Amino acid sequence: MRTVTVIPGDGIGPECVNSAVQIINATGVKIEWEERHAGARVFKQGISSGVPADTIESIKKTRVALKGPLETPVGFGQKSANVTLRKLFETYANIRPVREFPGVTTPYSGRGIDLVVVRENVEDLYAGIEHMQTPGVAQCLKLISRKGCEKIVRTAFEFARAEGRKTVACATKANIMKMTEGFLKKTFEEIAPEYPEIESWHVIIDNCAHQLVKKPEQYDVIVTTNMNGDIISDLTSGLVGGLGFAPTANLGNDVAIFEAVHGSAPKYAGKDVINPTAVILSGVMMLRHIGEFEAANLVENAVMYTIESGKAATGDIVGYDKGASTSLYTKTIIENLGKKPSSGQARDYKAIKMPNVSGEPVSVTAKSRRVIGADIFVEWPQDADALGRSLDKIVEDSDFRLKMISNRGTKVYPAGEALIDCVDHWRCRFMLRDAGADASSEQVLALLTKISAVHKWMHVEKLSEIDGEPGYTMAQGED
Ligand code: NAP
Repeated sequence: MRTVTVIPGDGIGPECVNSAVQIINATGVKIEWEERHAGARVFKQGISSGVPADTIESIKKTRVALKGPLETPVGFGQKSANVTLRKLFETYANIRPVREFPGVTTPYSGRGIDLVVVRENVEDLYAGIEHMQTPGVAQCLKLISRKGCEKIVRTAFEFARAEGRKTVACATKANIMKMTEGFLKKTFEEIAPEYPEIESWHVIIDNCAHQLVKKPEQYDVIVTTNMNGDIISDLTSGLVGGLGFAPTANLGNDVAIFEAVHGSAPKYAGKDVINPTAVILSGVMMLRHIGEFEAANLVENAVMYTIESGKAATGDIVGYDKGASTSLYTKTIIENLGKKPSSGQARDYKAIKMPNVSGEPVSVTAKSRRVIGADIFVEWPQDADALGRSLDKIVEDSDFRLKMISNRGTKVYPAGEALIDCVDHWRCRFMLRDAGADASSEQVLALLTKISAVHKWMHVEKLSEIDGEPGYTMAQGED
């Protein structure tokens, strides 16, 4: 008997999860469900993470969870309980497959869409490190590690291998964010040759979105960063009939959490009308994860058969005025266990080999590394020239010179041609006067102390040179 943590979730979550659990139980597979909670009702109990200790304990023990969507307060306030769960258990890979459903007519029907978005799941802007820089300027840190990139790239290739898929495309915004998004592209290009049987290429994420709408059948596996993956996986679910059809596996080396791509869709909560397919198919992914391949195929084929037959089609497919209820759809799938659709049958799956990347916190060592300057971010209510003249004077006898000032990434001092609508947040770039030296922390601190005497600063970044290359990017307009 295998124990699995089950989290009903918020809004439509309990209906979807109940449907999936009933169908899985009907296959005869031996699972004991340990029910735990997270999300809105937990926030209401005053637990600000949205995830109570007994839920964490249960997942630590069972290492597998099937969950419904959790409502996230928007804007200021609590963190997303979903993101908390993914991060607490380092489920770094978010696998989102979509395929054409026989019987669900979309503008893409007949084109054989069968693709998977492999989304990095714990880094990027979703690290959730945000600060108000001034009362009028907010910042979110986009953190991407070499280790995180390696784990997600290897997972994508291993996943492709496990499912016998032929290509892996890496989708990034490396043309603009050369260091963060570029890290995934660089790591992908280093690792791809280890999988010579799989064709690989890089595509810029915006073009990837365009290509997905124009010619989605060209893609097999797409590996991408967290935010890109969040967006394009909603897009890909739209290609095959909508969010009601898109499952997810959040995989880590220790824990796996299965859920739908969709959220709690509160307007449909408790009405017994929504499409539970996404959570049912997440349950199918869960069954494969725990080695129950036969039960997984049984459920997947019954879902496909039911959808193909057109009987018991839910409201999102045929309109809510004539759609079948969630409970009738569930009952019909159970009756259809053992039947196979005429097309779109379950493929031959093998277990995914999760990457074995070192558990050491630091895995990249540079051959050479020195500090050659500092960016000091200053709050200043006036214009760039006045700030520039003031800083030039402050540092005239120091180890650093003011190279330039930028406002939201564009150089504004010394004055350029750009017509910038400035805000009160200025990045002031100082470089060591001795270009061959390595600035000590004391030197940077002395610079900061001088500036503090006159200006209000809120943030400092050392400028490093790593293996002879600048470890920072230029401002727009900076030479
Ligand atoms: P959503 O809950 O995914 O719903 C958006 C729309 O998608 C619905 O209005 C409905 O479209 C359709 N839809 C979603 N699930 C469906 C299903 N099972 N069957 C049929 N149609 C379905 O997105 P949201 O309204 O932006 O978010 C609501 C809450 O969920 C938020 O608090 C959000 O933070 C949270 N959320 C949680 C997760 C998660 O737990 N992993 C993921 C995403 C969002 P129509 O209106 O066209 O019928």
